Amino acid sequence: MKIGALKEGFENEARVAVTPASAGHLGKLGHEVFVESGAGARAGFRDEDYRQAGVTVLPDAAALIGAVDVLAKVRQPTEAEIGQMRAGQTVISFFYPAQNADLLAQAKDQGITAIAMDMVPRISRAQKMDALSSMANIAGYRAVIEAANNFGRFFTGQVTAAGKVPPAKVLVVGAGVAGLAAIGASVSLGAQVYAFDVRPEVAEQIESMGAEFVFLEFDEPVQDGAATGGYAAPSSPEFREKQLAKFRELAPQMDIVITTALIPGRDAPKLWTADMVAAMRQGSVIVDLAAEKGGNCDLTVPDERIVTENGVVIIGYTDFPSRMGAQASELYGNNIRHFLADLTPGKDGVIHHNMEDDVIRGATVVHDHDVTWPPPPPKVA
Ligand code: NAD
Repeated sequence: MKIGALKEGFENEARVAVTPASAGHLGKLGHEVFVESGAGARAGFRDEDYRQAGVTVLPDAAALIGAVDVLAKVRQPTEAEIGQMRAGQTVISFFYPAQNADLLAQAKDQGITAIAMDMVPRISRAQKMDALSSMANIAGYRAVIEAANNFGRFFTGQVTAAGKVPPAKVLVVGAGVAGLAAIGASVSLGAQVYAFDVRPEVAEQIESMGAEFVFLEFDEPVQDGAATGGYAAPSSPEFREKQLAKFRELAPQMDIVITTALIPGRDAPKLWTADMVAAMRQGSVIVDLAAEKGGNCDLTVPDERIVTENGVVIIGYTDFPSRMGAQASELYGNNIRHFLADLTPGKDGVIHHNMEDDVIRGATVVHDHDVTWPPPPPKVA
């Protein structure tokens, strides 16, 4: 099959769905690979690098869409991009079907197959295709780098001839994939790291990474925010009240707060309130990784870096993976080529869109003139 990557049209998007290295792997599956000229430029891959990897570079999006069977993208396709596609073609990208009913309908009407990388089931077998995790891992790491860049002090404690420096105190709220990556990066920079999550089962992971789990104590059992399947649900009012009281106590002591708390299908829970920001020391930094979903901090402005009256920096960027375009493209390119490997079981360049396969079924949101989202639950864990 002919597989090609477009140059991402979304403003400032630095990632690309196929890298020269992943193109080599796609070639070994028997596919022919194409990219639009300049597709990898912002991630540091030149057209020449692609050519050396055996990729055909086409001059523009129209030529690319015209040439390929499978269109690989990072961001969800636009209406115009789907409009240029023809029946029988496949698009593979992040898609967010719950938020993009119009795109689903358009793809269905046009007879296009759409594969949503954000819908890859989070089962063991599919970890190598789990683009949500690979991007969250980068976001968590990058959040720490942004925090360090905005913090006028060391993360690590030092005893120098010029004076003693205490280690920075970092609080990570939400210890999913991004939170754990943020803990890892903060610990490796030498900070003293605290972390909180509504899922008590993550305490062990937090502690194994060298951070301290922030426990809440209750006289009687209350409903936390743990839900089945490893995701969070809204916590009970008692739990939330205790959590906020704990955060109020910690706010004046923390130098860096990295919030990553999300609940599937809902706006981000507000956990770092305006009075907590007011209680923080001048020069402290908040990085709100939940900004795209409304933010965990009351004062976050999506896509902005603001400084409050008391001198606290609040970063609400929503493009952390793109800020590490080379790394993100490499990992996303791998996620895509692993998915295409499952679609090409004979390694003969022939795609078998096997809707009996849990992973392929789960990620396919439009197929054969049908909207196939939401999928049935996976059969195996
Ligand atoms: P996510 O991005 O949905 O949420 C981030 C974190 O915020 C979660 O840990 C969640 O518990 C936490 N949270 C929600 N409300 C909170 C609150 N009020 N206070 C504090 N924390 C709050 O999570 P994710 O990173 O996508 O991970 C979700 C789950 O999926 C985890 O259990 C993870 O281990 C699992 N997972 C499994 C696989 C796999 O098996 N292939 C891959 C990736 C993730």
